[in-house]
Amino acid sequence: MTSLSIFSKKKCNPRVRYEHQISLPEITASGQKQLQSARVAIIGVGGLGSIAAELLVRMGVGALDLYDDDHIVESNLQRQTLFNEEDIGQKKVSVLARELQKINSGVTITPHDVLITEDSITQVDAPFLLDCVDNVRTRLIINEYCHKHNIPWIHMATAGTTGTVFVPGEVCFNCIYALKEELGDCTKSGILPTTNHITVSHGIIELFKLIAGKEPVRTMLRINTWSHNISHLAVKRNPLCNVCKKKYDYF
Ligand SMILES: [Zn+2]
Repeated sequence: MTSLSIFSKKKCNPRVRYEHQISLPEITASGQKQLQSARVAIIGVGGLGSIAAELLVRMGVGALDLYDDDHIVESNLQRQTLFNEEDIGQKKVSVLARELQKINSGVTITPHDVLITEDSITQVDAPFLLDCVDNVRTRLIINEYCHKHNIPWIHMATAGTTGTVFVPGEVCFNCIYALKEELGDCTKSGILPTTNHITVSHGIIELFKLIAGKEPVRTMLRINTWSHNISHLAVKRNPLCNVCKKKYDYF
C-alpha cells in the first residue's frame, strides 16, 4: 500500500510545533531532529498500536509504517481512540492512516493491510519496530526477525489492569517467554483502556531513547494501573535460549 503523501503538507515550523519537547533537556533540538528523521514500524494497530501511532505522529516522528489486517469492530471503540462508530467495518490501517495524517501532515504514513507472519515480516524494513500485537506467537516471530537483522524493538503488552514494557537487547524476548505454551491470548483477560495508554506512554519513551542513541531501561517494566504499582523486574539471559544462539525456529 502506498503512503498517504497525497495529503497537502501544511507549512509547519518544527521549532514552534515541538517547542514544548525541544525545551526538555531529555529531548532537546538534537533529539527532536533525530525523531523527525526516524522511521518506525508498528506491528498491530489496535489497542496499543493506534495509541502509539498517535503519540509518535504528534511528537513528530519522520515516518510510520503501519501493519495490520484487522477490521474495526464495535468493541474496539472502548480504547482505540482514533476510531469512531462510522469506522466500524473498515480496515484499521486505512482509517488510522487517514486520521493520523490529519493530525500531522508532515509525517510520512504508510498503511500495510498485512497480517504479520514469518513470511510477511520480511516486508518490514524500518530501522525501529514496536510490538503492539496481541499474541505470543507473533511476538516470537518479531523477536527472531529483529534478533537476526539486529533491529531495535520494544515489546509492549497488556492484560487486565497490568501493562508490560520490555526492550530486548542482551536478553531477548524468547529468553523470558521460553515457556510460551503457558501464555494465552491477552484479550481474554479483559482490558482497562487506561492500562493501554500508560503502557504505551512508557514504551514510546524507551523508543525515543533508542532513536536518540540513549540507553533504554533494560529491566522489564510491570505497571498495575489499578494499584498504581510499578515494578522493575530483573531479567537475565537464558543460557538455553535458541534465539540468542542464532538457532531460529521461523527463519
Ligand atoms: Zn534469548
